Amino acid sequence: MASPLLDNLNPEQLAAVTLPQASALILAGAGSGKTRVLTTRIAWLLGTGQARPMGILAVTFTNKAAREMLTRLSAMTPQSTRGMWIGTFHGLCNRMLRAHYRDANLPQLFQILDTQDQLALIKRLYRTHGIDDEKFPPRDLQWFIADAKEAGKRPNAVEAGNDHERRLVEYYALYEAACQREGVVDFAELLLRSFELLSNHAGIRGHYQARFAHILVDEFQDTSELQYRWLRLLAGPDAAVFAVGDDDQSIYAFRGANVANMQHFERDFATPERPVRLIKLEQNYRSHGNILDAANALIANNQARLGKNLWTDAGKGDAVRVFSAPSDLDEAAFIVDVVRGLVDEGLAASEIALLYRSNAQSRVLEHALFAAGIPYRVYGGLRFFERAEVKHALAYLRLVASPDDDGAFLRVVNFPPRGIGARTLEQLQENARSAGSTLWQAARAGGITGRAGASLGGFVQLVEALRASTAALPLSEAVATIIEMSGMAAHFKAEKDGQDRLENLEELVHAAETFVREGDLATDAPMLSTRVEAVPAEPPADGPDEGASDPLTAFLAHAALEAGDTQAEEGRPALQLMSVHAAKGLEFHTVFVTGLEEGLFPHENSFNVDAGVDEERRLMYVAITRARRRLYLTYAQSRMLHGQSRYNIQSRFIDEVPSGLLQWLSPQRMRARAIDVDAAEWGALPAPTPGSPKPTPQAPQWRIGQSVRHAKFGVGVIIDAEGRGSDARVQVNFRDAGVKWLALEYAKLEAA
Ligand code: ATP
Ligand code: MG
Repeated sequence: MASPLLDNLNPEQLAAVTLPQASALILAGAGSGKTRVLTTRIAWLLGTGQARPMGILAVTFTNKAAREMLTRLSAMTPQSTRGMWIGTFHGLCNRMLRAHYRDANLPQLFQILDTQDQLALIKRLYRTHGIDDEKFPPRDLQWFIADAKEAGKRPNAVEAGNDHERRLVEYYALYEAACQREGVVDFAELLLRSFELLSNHAGIRGHYQARFAHILVDEFQDTSELQYRWLRLLAGPDAAVFAVGDDDQSIYAFRGANVANMQHFERDFATPERPVRLIKLEQNYRSHGNILDAANALIANNQARLGKNLWTDAGKGDAVRVFSAPSDLDEAAFIVDVVRGLVDEGLAASEIALLYRSNAQSRVLEHALFAAGIPYRVYGGLRFFERAEVKHALAYLRLVASPDDDGAFLRVVNFPPRGIGARTLEQLQENARSAGSTLWQAARAGGITGRAGASLGGFVQLVEALRASTAALPLSEAVATIIEMSGMAAHFKAEKDGQDRLENLEELVHAAETFVREGDLATDAPMLSTRVEAVPAEPPADGPDEGASDPLTAFLAHAALEAGDTQAEEGRPALQLMSVHAAKGLEFHTVFVTGLEEGLFPHENSFNVDAGVDEERRLMYVAITRARRRLYLTYAQSRMLHGQSRYNIQSRFIDEVPSGLLQWLSPQRMRARAIDVDAAEWGALPAPTPGSPKPTPQAPQWRIGQSVRHAKFGVGVIIDAEGRGSDARVQVNFRDAGVKWLALEYAKLEAA
């Protein structure tokens, strides 16, 4: 099959891309081209007329990955990518539920709760029902509910082994009733509801099974049990499920990801005529040899692997650099120095990533970068859509879309402050509880007298007025109007440090605009316009896009689902900061894996969990394999974390990398340029661990920390270095003559 699409694929990749219509498992290591193969296969299926966009469903791991895939596809095929379903499990389930909200027993405009909103709802329930939050910490209930849903269980199906669990089940039931009453769903619910929809409605199931002839799943090793069951329901007898994954990169066991899915796949998706095809890709195209060897050696310490070894023909490349810093501040300062050097040399900052095991580590790094004026972006962390003022504005929007949303109601009923106090709200909640209604309904029913009642009435009128004046406006104008009319703009203008918040609100207007533009919605469509009153249970295969809902609802769903990854996309190139989890599937020229300390990475929580360290090791494997050319491993001997100083020993993961691949950098502060000098010339020190091999014969003649003698200045110690070859200079602290820079070519130093 001659097609430019297929140029530049190796034989195994080519085989995978052009497999006949049958299910297949592509088991392959990091950087071996899995994502590329998956994307190319879609383009090939479309290009050869074997599939229509309507017939393709692809699951990726993040919204960012989904967008990237769409962009690449648009470049690879002249066909429109509309009609394809590409997204995360949550995103796709949301889309399906919107299309079949009646059968799913949801209000048309159901809202999505993110984890914060969910916790707030749980806490509200605790107050209403007087639940003991010491015996039953709200977060425990949150986990309990998530686990039950992941297991596919409604409260009546959960078996309680003891009294404590019986209570939890009871609260789970209360929680469900509240969600149903308010028309809200949490993340786990999206999946479970969609799963139930498919399993209970043969017609809907049949429709999708007939439609999606090709189902493609990236990062398959991280699918959970329920996601796997969802896929099985969705895949009809003739569907080809194309799953790509790497068991060594499974890092979501704590969220229920199940590597066993990879083992079951062959059994579950084979048909008598069409056995599952299994293809392994072992050539890595991402990283240089030393980086890859480090990854291979590390992961070899894990038990229970499906087994594969990566190789590359890209050459060994640089050594893996290791830096031990006295403290977390020094670690950050070191990184800043190196980054500066690299950027000065012309490397784009966006090609450099700082990875950490735990989000709390980012603060010190951010601080150092900020002080040094290096632009950076943090993925994860406090996401744009989670900022308080943004959530307030979204709450107004949610109320406009569906006023029965108690969470949104409570968030803004008294924001900006309008004299509705806690006592009034308690009374209102009491009224709602006894009437079995939502807060909105209770507020409209009146029943609260006096000034508080009048204020409440004023709020009801405000929401109605907001709805009336924005329904016909395009989304971004509606958002701007709501920010003004609700009084939020005036409120923040009057606030001393409200400027930031105002800017974030402006950013929200901007986000709405971008959303409409990128979502291919008509930019002037009224925000409540395309509200479809009746969606047939079984839309015709060529019918309108099933995901269709009005711009406002779509935007709110987007805000709840958005993994906060847009913030890194706009503006000037910036250094990328993220947790290792968030780095999955990405690649960078240079990667720093920071905080390599026992207890931090591997994380101490993993020590008491079965195979916990193995999961941490897979995470480390993911971290290492993000690097194309250069990899730094750093750790701090002391670190402030959660308000406490910790004294650390270096992570076992450093010891698991063969020492021949490592180059230890001096613990002293070094200049960027010095760091950048080739290992053989500068800066290398033998590993500080006792018993480590002596420096090799070609090891540097000079190293930082070394004692030297100079004919004129006497004895001193090398404290810094820069340049290479004939430009090489060292800084020496002489006992008598003080600190001096010397050009090596002329200085004629001797070892002392
Ligand atoms: P991960 O496990 O980290 O998700 P992956 O297996 O999905 O990695 P890709 O991201 O698809 O790997 O590919 C890694 C890099 O190798 C990309 O830059 C990709 O463009 C490149 N690549 C893949 N296959 C080839 C090839 N045949 N020739 C040249 N470059 C390739
Ligand atoms: Mg990938």
